[in-house]
Amino acid sequence: MMDPKDPTIVPTRRVVVGGIGAGLVGASATLAGAGTAAAQTGQGSAAPPPQAAMQNPLEQYPKPPFPRQQQEWPGLAQKMELRPDHGEESYKGSGRLMGRKALITGGDSGIGRAAAIAFAREGADVAINYLPQEEPDAREVVELIRAAGRKAIALPGDIRDEAFCQKLVSDAVEGLGGLDILVNNAAKQASQPSILDISTEQFDATFKTNVYAMFWITKAALPHLPAGASIINTSSIQAYEPSENLLDYAQTKACIVAFTKSLAKQLAPKGIRVNSVAPGPIWTPLQPSGGQPPDAIVSFGASVPFGRPGQPAELGPTYVLLASQETSYVTGEVYGITGGNATP
Ligand code: NAD
Ligand code: MG
Repeated sequence: MMDPKDPTIVPTRRVVVGGIGAGLVGASATLAGAGTAAAQTGQGSAAPPPQAAMQNPLEQYPKPPFPRQQQEWPGLAQKMELRPDHGEESYKGSGRLMGRKALITGGDSGIGRAAAIAFAREGADVAINYLPQEEPDAREVVELIRAAGRKAIALPGDIRDEAFCQKLVSDAVEGLGGLDILVNNAAKQASQPSILDISTEQFDATFKTNVYAMFWITKAALPHLPAGASIINTSSIQAYEPSENLLDYAQTKACIVAFTKSLAKQLAPKGIRVNSVAPGPIWTPLQPSGGQPPDAIVSFGASVPFGRPGQPAELGPTYVLLASQETSYVTGEVYGITGGNATP
């Protein structure tokens, strides 16, 4: 039973999430807000972070059915009916990345935003890349990073372009004064029922975004990365259990796993670690902006053993762990966060 006097409970989140758990909610419902970021920087409090309070993970966040919804690609977290929780209210840092300099692609929303918030609250300066259409989401992240007392650098642009990827890295290095952590996280996912529906243009865009950009950005970043640096690539359960409607996307996620394992061996002698996070279904704008057919959003996450999708906030801590010195002996690994459909 939840103790309402428990100091680790964040009342706003408890109330909102509890309400959602009881049924569907309206468009204004939110799992998080940007407003209280300053209070969440991890300084000056002995209380354990709210995410550490023991609770039943099945009941921690909303379950399907979800509101039917669609957005134009690439989508905005702001416009999701039932706003994702990126850890805005809950993530508390403890200096685990103090003074580090991180670049995160797709840092405006979803998993990348959760990593950006967590990194900043752990003491890192953070540069985020995103598409120009995502400026409203990116603004919120910039504010959250600054509210944590860290430097935020917004670098919009399309990573399907090699020249832009090179400029992205050099701008990040210049703005941050170096680079220690690279998170290749941006992706394109466009559901199609048949291989016959996948145009060459889509196939190309999926591979450019998910595979080529990771290659280009990593290549550009490498000369700047010191020993102790960490590269984290977001793959997916799709690398191992590809869905029939994600033929092109799933292939790119398998590429990311192989890239991670190969590069980890290559960079081991330099003392640079390379790992991957492989999420299961996570409540982000990727899904209602073409990543899934509309009906699949209603039941999104129902098929995993936990019976619900993950929230981005449930991934932030793993990105911190893989970036931090605490995982000094971990490289070439793929860390599944799947609600029970374990990775091999
Ligand atoms: P998201 O939509 O919040 O993030 C994806 C980001 O990719 C976008 O915010 C956008 O900024 C970026 N992006 C896409 N095309 C781009 C381009 N051409 N140039 C620059 N940026 C571009 O969704 P998310 O779910 O947080 O996705 C983050 C990562 O998680 C992706 O690699 C995705 O494949 C992976 N993932 C997500 C799920 C899920 O269920 N949501 C599951 C497994 C893996
Ligand atoms: Mg986005």
